[in-house]
Amino acid sequence: MPNWQDLEFLSSSSICKRCLGRTFAKVGHGLSNPERGEKIAFALNALGLSLSITEEDKCSICHGLFLNLRNLCAPIEAELTDYEFGSFLVGSENSQPSELEKDLESRFGQGEGLKKEFNREFGKLLSNRMHKDVDLKDPDVIITVSLEYLSYRFWFKSLFIQGRYRKLVRGIPQTRWIIHDKHDSVEEFIGVPAKSMVRAENFYLHAAGREDVDVLMLGKGRDFVLELSSPHLRTIDLDALAKEVNGSGSVEIEDLRIVGKEEVEKVKNSRHDKTYMVTIEAAGNLDEASFLKAVTALNGKIIYQRTPLRVSGRRADLIRERMVKKANTLSIDGSHAVVEITAEAGTYIKELVNGDEGRTNPSLSGLYGSSLKVEKLDVLEIKEET
Ligand SMILES: [Zn+2]
Repeated sequence: MPNWQDLEFLSSSSICKRCLGRTFAKVGHGLSNPERGEKIAFALNALGLSLSITEEDKCSICHGLFLNLRNLCAPIEAELTDYEFGSFLVGSENSQPSELEKDLESRFGQGEGLKKEFNREFGKLLSNRMHKDVDLKDPDVIITVSLEYLSYRFWFKSLFIQGRYRKLVRGIPQTRWIIHDKHDSVEEFIGVPAKSMVRAENFYLHAAGREDVDVLMLGKGRDFVLELSSPHLRTIDLDALAKEVNGSGSVEIEDLRIVGKEEVEKVKNSRHDKTYMVTIEAAGNLDEASFLKAVTALNGKIIYQRTPLRVSGRRADLIRERMVKKANTLSIDGSHAVVEITAEAGTYIKELVNGDEGRTNPSLSGLYGSSLKVEKLDVLEIKEET
């Protein structure tokens, strides 16, 4: 029970019924803050305190904030007509509790915060006017209002498209090279048309691992999620997108669907065994018997790979243990051979062949007893997750 002194302090404050009601938000159920404030004022006056409630525009806590809500709606609604969205959430910023609010809290305990009431009331108002739902957990749009300046900004949820890609030509990196003025990457082949279809701000390719620039990605393809940031549209004709990308002749996509953000991490963290077709080149003619024997020896072998020299600047230098699941010679012709290798996720295939100056051990070069290198490398198949 508050003491008399505190109640007298309350009576002397210039506070509106809404803010009075919010101060005692835990009192009474099913009442709006102004209704609760009115009842409290009535009760206090009945106790003999002369509490006079001020109008909202003269209130030293809210300064008439809630009188402005309708004016604030119009420009927000106008800007959002340009965007397709199903749900939204209101947030607010730039509001420090006033001295009076802090004082009231220390005397009467915690009520409801001004921000909280604003977010709720403004959300309700916008929801009724725009005929959109408020979604606290996963809104398409967050509208953040500065309570000090009554300015606002939007955050739009990204749109995520999952699928699988094949890379049919060599020389294309998986993602954009920002520092190069080069405009063909798997990311751009898929992202550029998708971006224009939904009028997004930008696009990012998240994939289940990556192949080198000079490596083809064949078979059923590699899993990816394309993220489209701040899209104006959230419905997209995925067949039309696939058709446009596939028309490039360089990259093909299939099995497209709209997914949630959580798929990004799942795809990035997934680990799959892969089957490669490797064209190998030796300095001179290959000795057929020794070569076949070396390839066969790789079957089921555990190999140790120190971070390859060619990526050592970008990745931590450590030793990885990987298993070669299957290795099979398809053909030998002079100084060239074609080998099919199935290896655990994260195996460096070029280094498995050339030995990387002893950093990969055992290697095909080591087993064969002479230096071999990869001339051409294709991913034939990405196995189902193991
Ligand atoms: Zn007020």
